[in-house]
Amino acid sequence: MKLGLEGKRAVVGGASRGLGFAVAEALLAEGAQVVIAARDEDNLELAARLLEARTGFPPIPIAADLTSVDSRQGLVERTMEQLGGIDILIANAGGPPPGPFLSHGLENWQLAIDLALGSVTHLCRLVIPSMMAQGFGRIVQIVSIAGLEAIDGLILSNASRPAVLGFAKALAREMASHNILVNSICPGVFMTDRMTQLAKERATTRGIKVEEYLDEFSSDIPLGRPGNPREVGDLAVFLASPRNSYITGAAIPIDGGKTRRLY
Ligand code: NAD
Repeated sequence: MKLGLEGKRAVVGGASRGLGFAVAEALLAEGAQVVIAARDEDNLELAARLLEARTGFPPIPIAADLTSVDSRQGLVERTMEQLGGIDILIANAGGPPPGPFLSHGLENWQLAIDLALGSVTHLCRLVIPSMMAQGFGRIVQIVSIAGLEAIDGLILSNASRPAVLGFAKALAREMASHNILVNSICPGVFMTDRMTQLAKERATTRGIKVEEYLDEFSSDIPLGRPGNPREVGDLAVFLASPRNSYITGAAIPIDGGKTRRLY
């Protein structure tokens, strides 16, 4: 299937590793021009080199802290300068810290709001005027199944993600007539660095081995395994492409069948 991504200009948040990295890789492989963003310049440079080695196309690294208003603004301005415009926004960053309610102070709540809702709404505000002017835009948020159902030990995520899904649904309806399609990907369990760390923490808390924890975790996944980040990349490139012309406002679980909700 031809996705029509050649030459499209994309900015991918949280792309130095994990799911953002996988989405950037998939976009580059489809011929898009890609800016990758994350906080740490050295990690970003490393990721850029790895992405070029894997795809043959170099992304443009731009360091940005997506919790900072100035930094988000700088990211969009520099991307516009470098690429001459933005067709695709992949709104992604790290998740809020795990842990039960009483383990979180106010600063963690603030971080969860800034990272999830603040970064997405502000980035959309920054990119949408030019997408409207050009009559094309694709916005894909990387969210979580924690936006769809409660997950024990992820209260910050469970509280902040539904707000992001609500935002995307409303924005999709407002922007449809401008050919700006807005969708959310809700991953289940993917074996990224963050997930590996989360698994270690949970296993330690329960006094079991990580392997045991992962087996137990996978037993609740009908497809019997955690996901490969590449699988999120594959879904994201379709949603972000001109080939996607009729899906907007959707929150799509990609979880091996883990979530049980019907709607
Ligand atoms: P990750 O920790 O592996 O990678 C996060 C990326 O975001 C890194 O590049 C990191 O440098 C960057 N980042 C973190 N904070 C940032 C900030 N303030 N400004 C700019 N960049 C920042 O995470 P991941 O597993 O790739 O997850 C990506 C998103 O998907 C998160 O919101 C996560 O909660 C969600 N998610 C992941 C999984 C999973 O299984 N991996 C499952 C459900 C949801």
